[in-house]
Amino acid sequence: MVADPVKSAGCKINTNVVLERKDMARYVGPQCRLCRREGEKLFLKGFRCETAKCAITKRKYPPGQFSWGRGKLSKYGIQFREKQKVKRFYGVLERQFRNYFRKAEKQKGNTGDNLLVMLERRLDNVVHLLTFAHSRKSARQLILHGNVTVNDKKVDIASFLVKVGDVIRPKNSERSRKLVQDNAEALKSRKISSWLEFRQGALEGVVTQLPNRDDISVSVQEQLIIELCSK
Ligand code: SF4
Repeated sequence: MVADPVKSAGCKINTNVVLERKDMARYVGPQCRLCRREGEKLFLKGFRCETAKCAITKRKYPPGQFSWGRGKLSKYGIQFREKQKVKRFYGVLERQFRNYFRKAEKQKGNTGDNLLVMLERRLDNVVHLLTFAHSRKSARQLILHGNVTVNDKKVDIASFLVKVGDVIRPKNSERSRKLVQDNAEALKSRKISSWLEFRQGALEGVVTQLPNRDDISVSVQEQLIIELCSK
């Protein structure tokens, strides 16, 4: 029997990352682990995040066997954790994040604000904020399965950036509308962001203005990310 060259060399394989293509990876490990690593709620699991079952409530320490023994973070470590927090909150990978950063740099104004506003305008985030889906991950799935339209055109790209005046609706099919209706009903107590308007009767959302820095719900020091990405 031929020995596995990777195992026999003693290499540790990260089973939480599935390689899909040469340049793409998808995290498939426990979501709560990501929140625990960042030390705050990133609301990755929808309803569970609001309950006492939230892992951050129960175990407010980093995951891993030797998490207690880790010392103080270096300056680079602090910057890196800040970037990872934002990536995980919006569910974007490193390459996408770098692309957002490059675009933000080219825009007028503060690069940090531009970066966060661009991430906030992603269709998966908007679908989640409009209570069409209980988490950003399920919003992404809803979009990828063709259940969402923007200005009556099907959009199945989660990274699509909405603009002022866009109208977001579920696809005009009984199944899509019921899916969205059920989620909106279950999440009706959630406050809708000030830059969006949710019309419950018509089951549609409208982008009334572009988000600004105050609309970003994740606590982040974007300056640290800019310092890291500018190196
Ligand atoms: Fe994070 Fe939600 Fe898990 Fe809590 S329940 S740790 S907020 S993903």
